[in-house]
Amino acid sequence: AVSSLASYTAEPKPGNDVQIQEKYINLDHGDPTMYQSYWKQMGERTTIVISGWQSVSYFSDTKNLCWFLEPGFAKAVTRLHNLVGNAETANRHIVVGTGSTQLFQAVLYALCPSDASDPMSIVSAAPFYSSYPLIAECLKSGLYKWKGYTNDFDKDEPYIELVTYPNNPDGSIRGAVFNGSGGILIHDVAYYWPQYTPISSRADHDIMLFTLSKSTGHAGTRLGWALVKDEAIAKKMVKFIEISSIGVSKDSQNRAAKTLDVISDTYEDAETSNESKRFFDFGYEEMAKRWRQLREAVNKGKRFSLPNLPVGKCNFSNRTFGTQPAFAWVKCEHASVSDCESFLKQHKILTRGGEHFGSSKKYVRISLIGYEEDYNEFIRRLSLINSEESP
Ligand code: PMP
Repeated sequence: AVSSLASYTAEPKPGNDVQIQEKYINLDHGDPTMYQSYWKQMGERTTIVISGWQSVSYFSDTKNLCWFLEPGFAKAVTRLHNLVGNAETANRHIVVGTGSTQLFQAVLYALCPSDASDPMSIVSAAPFYSSYPLIAECLKSGLYKWKGYTNDFDKDEPYIELVTYPNNPDGSIRGAVFNGSGGILIHDVAYYWPQYTPISSRADHDIMLFTLSKSTGHAGTRLGWALVKDEAIAKKMVKFIEISSIGVSKDSQNRAAKTLDVISDTYEDAETSNESKRFFDFGYEEMAKRWRQLREAVNKGKRFSLPNLPVGKCNFSNRTFGTQPAFAWVKCEHASVSDCESFLKQHKILTRGGEHFGSSKKYVRISLIGYEEDYNEFIRRLSLINSEESP
């Protein structure tokens, strides 16, 4: 699926109504371009200037276990987690990575003993994030083996279970499902932010992966961070990043630090909080609107259905609301449609089919976090398809 990156829709130009109606709408990737309008509205507030003499050294903080972690970025991450209350940061090591994609690889490397006779099993309940099997299988590692959703492994031997919370693609809220005594859990909490899901408690797991891509929307900055309890695991993750990329861009970290601090400022700094919209309010309202539009389009007919999503109280915003995930997990209900991705493609809507997530082709995953113009056009097309008479 990543190979179709080239088919990304270009940044839409205003006033091109006819063109937009004829083009393919790409809702396959979770490209978070929805957030661009917020950051435009914030003008120069997140601008940083990097002088030519900066970021020359490989090293950021030689006293830190993660020696390529910029102190300002670490501070901004901790500050934001403490503000939102979505993750425990005390007694944890922060490991920065080139996206949480690199951290995922680093954590697999860190958890698997190099001298084991057999590769460690990696499992995850379906539907699972489609990149996990691709990453786990691409180098045919002797350290680990992708098993996906299966009981075909020894639960008393050490194994790795990936828990995506809330889940990509279907937005479900679930913990570990395999329940063997040998399970080591990796919590991918990319979407545990208050624009998507009620923050019910501070996540307090041993290994948690976060990403800038889905929190602030800066996927192109390519930054993620892991909160890791165990020092030996954190050290091995750092080793992996040292071997694979000798650290992580300082420029990206400093830019991200500024962005995260501006978000915190809009809540904590009386002056800024008065004059500008707060980031998570923007995200929450935008997601709520897009989910309303989608439900309306789906309710126009019987062709499609959406999963029931849990409702909860958000300790951060004090709102009670239903999870409004970055993706919709849509089922084609009509008996004549066995491949929902191909069906929608005929209508120039590009989505990702259920089989990529270890599930059925009756499902597709649809991104809700793209450009507004594309999303509105998608809703228009979906409503039309859904109101048509059944074949
Ligand atoms: N985990 C999950 C569950 C995701 O959905 C994504 C992005 N689609 C990632 C990790 C990867 O994030 P990054 O851009 O930081 O590599």
